[in-house]
Amino acid sequence: MFLALALVANFMLAKAFTDETERTRVPYTLFREQAQADNVEEISSKGETIQGKFRDPIVYAEDANQPTETTEVVDFKTERPSFADDNIFAVLDRNDVRVNARPTDEARPIWQTLLFSFGPTLLFIFLLFSIMGRASRGLGGLGGIGKSKAVRYEASNIRTTFADVAGIDDVEGELVEVVDFLKNPDRYRRLGATIPKGVLLSGPPGTGKTLLARAVAGEADVPFFSMSASEFIEMIVGVGASRVRDLFQQAKAAAPAIIFIDELDAIGRSRGGSSSLGGHDEREQTLNQILTEMDGFTGSEGVIVLAATNRPEILDAALLRPGRFDRRLVVSPPDQNGRSKILAVHSRGVPLAEEVDLNQIASITPGMVGADLKNLVNEAALMAARHNHDAILTADFTEALEKIILGTERQIMQTREERERTAYHESGHALLGMLQPGADPVRKISIVPRGMALGVTFQSPESDRYAYDTSYLKGRIIGLLGGRAAEKLVYGDVTTGAESDLEQVTRIARQMVGRWGMSEAIGPVSILPGPRDEVLFPGIGEGGVSAHTRELLDREVRRIIDECYLEAMAMLEEHRDQLDALVAALLERETLDEIDAYHAAGVERRPPAVSLESPPAVSLEKPAAVSPII
Ligand code: ADP
Ligand code: MG
Ligand code: ZN
Repeated sequence: MFLALALVANFMLAKAFTDETERTRVPYTLFREQAQADNVEEISSKGETIQGKFRDPIVYAEDANQPTETTEVVDFKTERPSFADDNIFAVLDRNDVRVNARPTDEARPIWQTLLFSFGPTLLFIFLLFSIMGRASRGLGGLGGIGKSKAVRYEASNIRTTFADVAGIDDVEGELVEVVDFLKNPDRYRRLGATIPKGVLLSGPPGTGKTLLARAVAGEADVPFFSMSASEFIEMIVGVGASRVRDLFQQAKAAAPAIIFIDELDAIGRSRGGSSSLGGHDEREQTLNQILTEMDGFTGSEGVIVLAATNRPEILDAALLRPGRFDRRLVVSPPDQNGRSKILAVHSRGVPLAEEVDLNQIASITPGMVGADLKNLVNEAALMAARHNHDAILTADFTEALEKIILGTERQIMQTREERERTAYHESGHALLGMLQPGADPVRKISIVPRGMALGVTFQSPESDRYAYDTSYLKGRIIGLLGGRAAEKLVYGDVTTGAESDLEQVTRIARQMVGRWGMSEAIGPVSILPGPRDEVLFPGIGEGGVSAHTRELLDREVRRIIDECYLEAMAMLEEHRDQLDALVAALLERETLDEIDAYHAAGVERRPPAVSLESPPAVSLEKPAAVSPII
């Protein structure tokens, strides 16, 4: 603010002082001509310099080489050559020209020149010093730089409670216990147990980590300091560490207390390894300061550090050492039951129609996390409002879900042939999805263009899946190739429409071979870098792998895809009449849902497999459960 004001003031001052008339330099001969023609109103003169004003503006080209670029001259200046012996004064006198009406424009006095050239700089330096002075006296201004900006929740302004958190009961239970440590430390100390210093919440984005922390703040009855890790690090170097120090000091003074550091990976990632320019050192210092502070705890301060991260695998090992974040709680995406409870939490404030069964909606949203479900409820409410419903119906939910997963419908002009081609492409995907044992049931087929896609086939599992077997993955590849295979079968030619299918196919096949040990030729060897390696050693690529193995990888990927493609072709050829029937239904109705689609294709829907929810597998990059095929 100061600086901006100072600059504006400076600019205006300079403008006021330099408000002198712009004069065009003209040749002396021109001036003389005008004087003789009685077109000079007034002149001033000092030495040989003549300045003045013409009565009527004259048109004059300043640059003789560009005669077209003329200016209108009124105020002029010129130099009278010393050898000129014309009697110019006589001419002027005769024509009643005012001579020496004012002083000639002078060069700026030296003090002004100095002021305008150094003034702004001096002002800036002065301001900087005064701000720094204030800062060192702790008077605010920019002085809060080294202070932690942690927000301290007070009991009065909190609204989040454990009632707002659903579907992650195990983690919730552990946190309740942690809060209990703080409130009744003696009960634990009597038995010789040490109270944990740090609790790390990890899990995919949107699963409710931040929400949980807020709920802890709401329920704990102890001071709660919350800060996002990225806030430690700002433009100014060295700030991070001092903010950490300040934060811990505040917390200790208020103990028993909880410190919450959100998005810990912003500073907590492994030191060494990848080094980004600049911010690197700063991050390391901040991290070291946190480690130092946590080591400084004797356990009797009554301060617990709660942290959250999406990417625990990249955290520095030192953070995870016992005595620091020794409790690690994994917040997993909710299972069907959990999703149903989360939906219930978020639809507390919205009117649901009687017929809505949240359990059923939970069953069609595998893979969605708390944040997605919250969004879904909101979109459904918007849909209901658009359709003028008094309450949200199941149809609003499914429509909202479609919009979220598949994208918004788009109006584009298509010829009959194009629509038919799209219908064959999608029917190819869908029919193979229906025919293959073990594949996810087809929930919807549509040839209404949405987002980037001309059509879409949507499959989702009957119950949540946590691990995938080879035959399922192959089936998925076959289904993905079904679009292209159908085009080839019917038209003998292919289109660009299979781009995203091929991308997915390649990704799945590469991972089958390179990460999941599903190719005999390569064996159970991990060749592709996992997500953790990529972070620790960027650019490592397929570093430790021999050229031979890499070639083999490519060949195996190719083999798997080729085999699947042949199988897709064969299946479609065999079931050509069913394919045609599905296409006909699709062209007529544009969108088919599960029952109609199976009916049109004449395929019997398989009874849902008995679902035994298996424990989460650790595969970090499994094929997304909910992803439409286009
Ligand atoms: P993150 O794990 O990325 O920190 P958030 O806690 O910020 O996720 O979740 C975002 C929003 O999603 C929350 O504000 C909440 O409304 C909703 N949400 C996420 N998980 C849950 C849950 N288990 N129960 C209820 N709401 C949830
Ligand atoms: Mg968060
Ligand atoms: Zn496709």
